[in-house]
Amino acid sequence: MKILVVGAGVAGLSATINLQRRGHAVTLLEVAPEIRTSGSPIDVRGDALDMVREMGILDEIRAAEIRMSVDSEFVDDHGNRIAGFSTEHSHDRPDDIEITRPDLMRILVGALEPGTDLRFATTVADLAAGADGVHVSLTDGTEDDFDLVVGADGVHSRTRSIVFGPEADYVRFLGVYLALAPVGPPAPEGTPGRMHLAPGRMMALLQSPDAELAGTYFRSPKLDVDHHDPAAVRGVLRQVFRDDVWRVHELIDRMVASPGLFFDECSQTRMPRWSVGRVVLVGDAAHCAAPLSGRGTSLGISGGLFLAQAIEENPGDLAGALAEYERRQRPYVDRAQRGVQGSIDRNVPATADDVAARYAALRQYEASRA
Ligand SMILES: Cc1cc2nc3c(=O)[nH]c(=O)nc-3n(C[C@H](O)[C@H](O)[C@H](O)COP(=O)(O)OP(=O)(O)OC[C@H]3O[C@@H](n4cnc5c(N)ncnc54)[C@H](O)[C@@H]3O)c2cc1C
Repeated sequence: MKILVVGAGVAGLSATINLQRRGHAVTLLEVAPEIRTSGSPIDVRGDALDMVREMGILDEIRAAEIRMSVDSEFVDDHGNRIAGFSTEHSHDRPDDIEITRPDLMRILVGALEPGTDLRFATTVADLAAGADGVHVSLTDGTEDDFDLVVGADGVHSRTRSIVFGPEADYVRFLGVYLALAPVGPPAPEGTPGRMHLAPGRMMALLQSPDAELAGTYFRSPKLDVDHHDPAAVRGVLRQVFRDDVWRVHELIDRMVASPGLFFDECSQTRMPRWSVGRVVLVGDAAHCAAPLSGRGTSLGISGGLFLAQAIEENPGDLAGALAEYERRQRPYVDRAQRGVQGSIDRNVPATADDVAARYAALRQYEASRA
């Protein structure tokens, strides 16, 4: 088939690689001028490991494995340690892999067929889906017809808006914002990550082998702020954290000054179905579970693989194939989306009592391991 994939994130790259390996001709569009690599290190976990093995990139991913600050500790207003935990115990499987975003994206791009038609700074201007194909107008002024369009353009998907309707119908804000940025060179090996909690707010300074990362989750009603305007983001963070101590204000200033600043709301995409006719969604466009799930990358990888497998196994029956893709992917999505509220409550306790309960649980956990 002749297929258009919109968005060269994890899901779009996984779909493209897996479709190409089954003989399909793929055009891949990316609205950004280059592959986007900013963000925190990511986990490839659970069954996604078997999937990247099937895609032939497990060894490369394992070779690039990192260990984020294995020990992390919560500190009080003066920076004194309250309780700690080891991130090693949060894995699904002992062989779960943590990898930096630039490394994962480099490996996925390297797995594309040589000469792949990958067009940067280009997206869909409009598309008209018919029974026999989809007519697409691109922002580079060209037009073409495809047998299938795969929307892999993330939680704010334009493909979804054009074909399925407005974002507000599908994307649910979870009442939490996230800011994250690399703020300096890596600290010496063994330096623990540090976190500070206040009711509804968490600030962290985390260590990865390539950078120190400052990050925060905070609870808030929906804000009217331009996520891409560092000055506006700084104003929001300063206001939200106005009463906080430790190194919170210093970290906010360093985050906002970083070119790698990422600021967004935590939302989930929930849709009754992921395809209409010859247009199908994969990854966050279809089913964002929120960064707090820690499973978005794995879901992006599995969705691309399941889609390509289902098409291969249902020759001449696209509707059947798209239904089968959804049947395989849904259980993974449901599990990831269900787990998010618990993760919010653990990471961003809402009240002073919840903060105290979190510390008590961590101390108990520490004592049980002593
Ligand atoms: C800060 C942060 C930390 C995270 N941590 C983890 C983690 O630890 N573990 C984990 O599993 N997941 C994590 N995630 C989630 C994970 O990165 C995503 O869920 C996953 O990458 C899903 O990929 P995607 O390809 O569907 O969407 P995205 O990664 O959003 O990619 C979409 C791509 O489409 C492009 N695009 C957007 N609009 C258009 C358009 N109109 N036309 C063409 N291209 C377009 C974008 O530029 C982007 O390249 C995190 C996410 C964030 C933001």
